[in-house]
Amino acid sequence: MKNRLNILMVFSEVAPFSKTGGLGDVGGALPKVLKDMGHDVRVITPQYRRINERKYVLRDVIRLQDIKVEMAGEVVSINVKSAFLPNSKVQVYFMDYRPYFFRDGLYSNPKKNEDYSDNAQRYYLFCKGTLETLKKLQWQPDVIHCNDWQTGMIPFLLQHHYRDNPFFLKVHTLMTVHNFAFQGNFNRECLSVMNLPNNFVFEDSELDLNGQCSFLKAGLLSATMVNTVSNRYAYEVKHSEDYGFGMENVLKNRSDDLKGVLNGMDSKVWNPETDPLIAEKYSIDNFSGKSVCKQALIEELGLKDNERPLVAIISRLTEQKGMHLLQDIFEEMLAIPVSFVLLGLGEKRFHEFFIKMAKKYPKQVSVHLKFDDLLAHRIIAGADLFLMPSLFEPCGLTQLYALKYGTVPVVFETGGLADTIKPFNGGSSEGNGYLFQKPISKALLKAIKQSLTHYRDAKIWRRVIRNGMKVDFSWEKSAEEYINLYQLCIDKT
Ligand code: ADP
Repeated sequence: MKNRLNILMVFSEVAPFSKTGGLGDVGGALPKVLKDMGHDVRVITPQYRRINERKYVLRDVIRLQDIKVEMAGEVVSINVKSAFLPNSKVQVYFMDYRPYFFRDGLYSNPKKNEDYSDNAQRYYLFCKGTLETLKKLQWQPDVIHCNDWQTGMIPFLLQHHYRDNPFFLKVHTLMTVHNFAFQGNFNRECLSVMNLPNNFVFEDSELDLNGQCSFLKAGLLSATMVNTVSNRYAYEVKHSEDYGFGMENVLKNRSDDLKGVLNGMDSKVWNPETDPLIAEKYSIDNFSGKSVCKQALIEELGLKDNERPLVAIISRLTEQKGMHLLQDIFEEMLAIPVSFVLLGLGEKRFHEFFIKMAKKYPKQVSVHLKFDDLLAHRIIAGADLFLMPSLFEPCGLTQLYALKYGTVPVVFETGGLADTIKPFNGGSSEGNGYLFQKPISKALLKAIKQSLTHYRDAKIWRRVIRNGMKVDFSWEKSAEEYINLYQLCIDKT
């Protein structure tokens, strides 16, 4: 092994404690693999209301009680508890500050579907509280690995508030961006919580994004190194204005330091051979369980016809995820015919559309507008086709889970989808899925139809499935790449 590194990973969500999407999956998986490689890896995350203290055995840590964090003259007192990531020795610190984190949602109010208005204060406290926690712990990470805008103020604070503090002299930062569409841009008034130096000029600073205060920009410009979560997406954000969402200049500035590291999957959680949440376990060579899973799912959902291909979506219901493309061809797709199941939450217009379709085609369409991890496993195991028509996709994890469960992905050729799904070629019998190249609904429908032509030939379909199940997207390789990035951070300064 190379040097044993001390790494603090900072995540606003960590599965299974908290999760709204792929970020939580990464927070729950990558630290375990790095720890298994022999590094001292610890995680810090907010303690949200939904985290069950008893189930996960959260313990008070005496020296992490009543940590004082200064927020614009006011002193806030936080407590930090600790637990292990399930099935591992990774220590997770939970920042407990009830007024900010003890809420029903992580970033938004689930009842109103609106972002919390004090998110800037909440995550500023999270960032500053993280650095204060390290001081109390007297544990100096070689690298603080920050993830997404919620952690972007850490590199910034290290530059502006803690630069002269000897404790942080050798602490480097890596900023990983899981999606450039989410930037944590706030009204300038949020500056009032930060005790900025007197000579601080907002307009000249890493914070200013067109007059707004951007946590992501601050992180990107202040971190030692930056990366995103697939090579293709790294290329896209560097070379096309369409992907950076206003961060183009920032990205140009850091172009040499911006790497792509593909996310992996937690093969302990997502594995049809061991998954306790599915009707019957199966593997590439012992595949009969797959049809048991399909039958069980069809019955559970009240769908009619087991012979029909079952098409699935598990996703945020947004334009990024291409839901408008699906909407345009939805009834044509049903007429093929196929059965359809959807699990997701998102924009109201998509909720309304899918509910309308479920009412119109009750035996053919099953719609679940909620976040339900257990149902997600049953759907991934029971479906035949998995759709991800995302207009852009930094990495995407669900297509990897689908591959592993022998559920064939149909995806738009972009970002991490392009890096992981290769078109099935009838001639060479290579490839693990179906892709379309123009972000238009007709192209999506064509790709679905092409996949279903192969579905009808059992021998070919088995081949597509086998190719997918064989591909290895476990975290080990990407974890090595992160170690190299950490090392680059350390060598850089
Ligand atoms: P993103 O992070 O952009 O939402 P990813 O594909 O990277 O997309 O990860 C999404 C993760 O969230 C996957 O683990 C997926 O199974 C899960 N997921 C998304 N929507 C739901 C839902 N409604 N219920 C349960 N799991 C969901």
